[in-house]
Amino acid sequence: MICNKCGRQVIEGANFCPVCGADLRYQRNNNSGSSGYINPNDETNFGYTLLSFFMPYIGLVLYIVWLKEFPKRAKSCLNGLIAGIICIIILFCCVYSGRAHSNSWHRISPESVISEKTGV
Ligand SMILES: [Zn+2]
Repeated sequence: MICNKCGRQVIEGANFCPVCGADLRYQRNNNSGSSGYINPNDETNFGYTLLSFFMPYIGLVLYIVWLKEFPKRAKSCLNGLIAGIICIIILFCCVYSGRAHSNSWHRISPESVISEKTGV
């Protein structure tokens, strides 16, 4: 972790900064949940974007898990997740419209039966 006061690298889990003596326990507690804190291990990762794209469910879980600790990584997941969901919707629409189209060739739709009976 990095000291808030002097910006030096400090051993993970240390209570006080060895350089400036700042109370790191307070820093740790204060940072959990604050958006201003930047995790040094946090970075955008296209691999996770791809993962979320192909497996949106896993992407969603990773996004929730990483949202607080790794906001950038979580955002990578979210991007893939959104792209994946959009693709699924588009794919679903294509399949659905394709099926509806082929049905009209082979079967008589209920609408046409009603209009035949009522003469509308
Ligand atoms: Zn320090």
